Amino acid sequence: NLIVRMFDVYKAYGKTSALKGVSLEIAAGDIVFITGPSGAGKSTLLKLLYKAELASQGQILVDGLNLSRIGARQLPELRRRIGVIFQDFKLIAGRSVFDNVALVLEAAGEKPKMIEKKVMSVLRTAGIEEKARVFPPSLSGGEQQRVAVSRAVVGSPRLILADEPTASLDPQSAEQVMQLLETFHGKGATLVIATHNRRMISRLKGREIRLEGGAVGVPEDFSGEKAEEC
Ligand code: ADP
Ligand code: ADP
Repeated sequence: NLIVRMFDVYKAYGKTSALKGVSLEIAAGDIVFITGPSGAGKSTLLKLLYKAELASQGQILVDGLNLSRIGARQLPELRRRIGVIFQDFKLIAGRSVFDNVALVLEAAGEKPKMIEKKVMSVLRTAGIEEKARVFPPSLSGGEQQRVAVSRAVVGSPRLILADEPTASLDPQSAEQVMQLLETFHGKGATLVIATHNRRMISRLKGREIRLEGGAVGVPEDFSGEKAEEC
């Protein structure tokens, strides 16, 4: 039961090759960490999976959808199956916490009563229920990231993609975000997380896929390198 399959995927930005022949498979329900040095292609790999960028070559299947075959009309359907979390949160500053999270469900055409119920339920799980009516700029980074995780999961996506979700957080906030990701994994989501955070990798017990220069390499744990944190 595979949720992601990539076959010999290349991605070039002009003259820069960001990915050079990446093939991988991710089973539904897995936790997978994408690791590797800065510039290795981690963000690019995630962007290809939610079709924020197009592959230059190769095939990508996400939850049974062939990304090179789906058109603009099917893109919202793909995006509904995926929740995305960024290092810099990407919340809308001029909307309340509630509205930031509700947006996904509004776009999916859910009824206001159901939206209220689901949004408050994820905010409660994230421990930020009492912040529902405030605006993101008044929150700490850790709180903002918990809002972003809430937004990513509120539509019950099959796949959660996170790009360095703890990189701009203090250790305690990072811990809370890890716990939250673990909770939503427990509810059935597949997690694909690009990170340098060794603590998260050992804690969430995922499989590691290491990228180097745009290609899949040997995981750090097996290459004799000393593990580093964050
Ligand atoms: P990582 O997330 O591992 O740091 P990225 O996927 O961000 O790596 O980048 C991989 C390579 O592609 C880098 O050389 C980077 O400079 C380049 N790159 C990424 N995005 C763009 C872009 N929009 N335009 C040009 N080059 C890019
Ligand atoms: P576009 O189709 O023009 O990229 P979207 O509204 O779909 O516009 O996405 C806006 C931004 O949010 C994109 O740049 C993308 O990086 C990001 N994004 C796309 N899909 C999701 C998602 N499911 N969850 C969170 N962010 C997303």
